[in-house]
This record gives sequence, structure tokens and C-alpha cells, in this order.
Amino acid sequence: MGKSRVLLVRPEESRSKYDFQGVIENECLELEWIRRILEDVGYIVTVFDKQVETLSFQEFISDRDFDVFYGECRCFQESFLLEYVKAFKQKCNGLTIVGGIHAQMCKERLFVDETDLVLSGYNYTDLPQIIEGNRDIPNLSYRKNGNWVINATRPTDIKTLPWPNREYFYSHPDRYPYLDLKHAMWIRSSFSCPYRCRFCLRNHMNQGIYSRRDVPDLVDEIEQNDNENVYLVDDDFLYDENYLRRFIEEIKKRKIRRKYICYGRADFIADHEDIVAEFKEIGLVYLLVGLEDIRDEKLLSYNKHNTVRNNEKCIRICHKHQIRLMAMFILGLDFRGKDFRDLYAYIKKHQLKYVAVSIYTPELGLETEEEYITSDPSDFDYLHLVCRPKYLSVRMWYLHYYLLLIRLFLKGRRERVYDFIDYGAYIRSFIGNIFKRRKENA
Ligand code: SF4
Repeated sequence: MGKSRVLLVRPEESRSKYDFQGVIENECLELEWIRRILEDVGYIVTVFDKQVETLSFQEFISDRDFDVFYGECRCFQESFLLEYVKAFKQKCNGLTIVGGIHAQMCKERLFVDETDLVLSGYNYTDLPQIIEGNRDIPNLSYRKNGNWVINATRPTDIKTLPWPNREYFYSHPDRYPYLDLKHAMWIRSSFSCPYRCRFCLRNHMNQGIYSRRDVPDLVDEIEQNDNENVYLVDDDFLYDENYLRRFIEEIKKRKIRRKYICYGRADFIADHEDIVAEFKEIGLVYLLVGLEDIRDEKLLSYNKHNTVRNNEKCIRICHKHQIRLMAMFILGLDFRGKDFRDLYAYIKKHQLKYVAVSIYTPELGLETEEEYITSDPSDFDYLHLVCRPKYLSVRMWYLHYYLLLIRLFLKGRRERVYDFIDYGAYIRSFIGNIFKRRKENA
């Protein structure tokens, strides 16, 4: 084995204080899968997740040596990751590989001098061969005689991946919360999503091919990881009725007690109250649902294949069974002041306690007719406008956005929804960000 010391890296989500650090932190599952695969064949692997590390990346590598760098990122982390790649080349001069969601969507953006290889798929089991020098691997891009060669793509069967090595997660017991659920372990049973919502990049993952693990294997992984909180991070965990019935039955049979968080669609919840009620019985706490909008015509334009009526039935079911519904909405580019106010009134009327609002963001790599107003990848974090609003100026759109955020924040505070966060620090960073943004838009 020529190259033995591998550094697996995930950069920070943001360099402003305005992020979800300490509130929602994502376990670096992709790196943990890769760690398992490489360690199984004898590599010495180190993980660096800047979300929880206190040293800067440059400090971290200053007195260490590695032969291989593998880094993953989302679009909004692109510049941070490329900065790390550069620093790694200068310090260690080893092989650099870049992967992750952004590499699946926009691999060409990662073709820079310091990057040697880009892996734009989930075929992590090919990494040992790639490190050994094999370039005839699906989803791999590499340089030959100064030009980038892009190999053919191939979806990955999720069943071919081993369970992740979670040593890093377990060595940070005070990190990786999901709101008030501390140290929430990520488990994924599927790649991609069978739906085709227009705004969403999730259904583009794995070349758009849905692949799911078997129920016993999923339940084995939950059972053998004695972690109280389990975040089922499938893009739509509530997809297949039979799968869910088998999952619930297996969990009950083995008497496994955990608290669960998962994503689901409102139409499924509206049609399967019995499954949702049984899921609650075995420990479901948070259901994350993209209600997206309060008007049917907008849901239609998003190709959501859902209705406001279903959304409202979903809300009633969650309330009835005391499931914490995290209601997610998209703030459209066509919003006028009234749309922001109507949305707030709707949230209040339906007594939605947990709410997340995202700015409509056609990610780089998705088809869109909208006009981009920024080329800075770190703006693609769903907290910034990346396209021009239709009816309001950028400044006015943001004004309504901030007003909505403030109203939601005050509502949450009154209802004591987020009592576990440091309100003072959050308010200070929020106000700081408003002023920063005002300067940017001046
Ligand atoms: S929004 Fe949800 S249901 Fe729609 S494609 Fe994305 S993950 Fe699938």
C-alpha cells in the first residue's frame, strides 16, 4: 500500500456567527462510511469536522502529515473546502480528492489546480482502488495531460456500503444536537428521492436513482448503536407504507427504545395516520415536513404533487398525536409584503410551533430561469437571496424577510420553544447579520 495516512475533512458551514451551530449539527456520516471502508483495508484515517473542531484547518495539519486528503462539501462550503485543499497541497503535498453533494451537482466547479480527483457519486467502496491509482472508476474525474477526464456515471446501491465507523461521533458526546435532542445519531436508509420537486437537489443525488436498505439491516444498525436519539436522514423516510410497517414491527419486536427525527411528506402523513401514530408509539419526536407554501398554485408550480388540504390534515394529525411537526416553508421570489404577512398569519392560525423558512434557492447545477444576483457559493445557504425577486427590490424583500424572522423568533420565544438556546447570543448575531447584509445591499 503506497499511501496510508488519510485525512477526511468537512469544512465549516459558515464563517459568520449566523448559523445553526450548537442548535442543529450534522453528523459527518459520509466521512464515517469512508473511514470504515479505508480502515477495513489497512489505512490510518483521521477525521476533521470543522463544525466541532476548535483548531483551524491550517493549525490542525501544521504538525501532522498525511498522504491523502478527502473532503466533502455542500455548495455554500465550496470556497472553504477549496481553501483547505490548497493548504493541504502546500503542507502535505499528497493526493487530494473532493466529493460530497456539491461534487454530485457541480463537479466542474471543483476542477482547480490543487484538486487531483473529484468523486461525484456514492461509490465510496471504490476509494481504496482510487487511492492505489486506478482511474477507471465510475463517477471519477481526473486530470490527464493537463485536461480533466470525466468518467461515466453510475448510481450506487446503498446496500453495498458498510455501516459507518462512528468513533468520531462518539468522541464528541456534547455535540451533534437536533434542537433539544442531544447527540443525535444520523442513520440513512436510502439514497435520493423518488419525487421530483422542482426546487430540490435531493432527487438529483445518486443520478436520481432511489436505493434503499433492507429493514432488518437498518434496525440492526439502530439496535447496535446505543444512542438515545436517532435522526433518520433519508430525504423522505416516510415513503413506502410496507417498509414502514415492517420497520415499526421490527423495532417493537426487539423492544428498541429510541427517540426519532425524520423527514416525511404531508400527503403520506395525511393518508397514513395509523402508521404515524404507531411511529409515535415507538419514539417519533420530530417530523420534518416541507409544507412549502400556503397556496395550491405554488405547490403545483413547485411540482410538489401535494395540496394545502393535505398539509392541513398533516398538521391536525401531528397535533393530535403530539408529534412535533417541523413545518418548513419556502419564501418565494414572487413574494410581496402581503405574502410574508399571510404566511405568518397562517403559522399562527394553525398553531405551528416549530417552523423553518428558507429562501427559494435554485442550487447551482439545477435548471432555472431565474436571474442570479450572486456568484458567491457561500450565499447558497437558503438564508441569502441568490436570485432577483420578481416584484420587490432586494432591499425590500429582505426587509419583509427580517420582519418575518423577528415575528417567528418572538413567537417561538413566547411559546418557549427554543429555551435550550442562548437567546442573547442569537439576537446579537442576528442583528449583526442584518447590518452586515444592509451594507452588502447598499
Ligand atoms: S422536496 Fe422532499 S419530496 Fe420533494 S424531491 Fe426533495 S426530498 Fe423529495
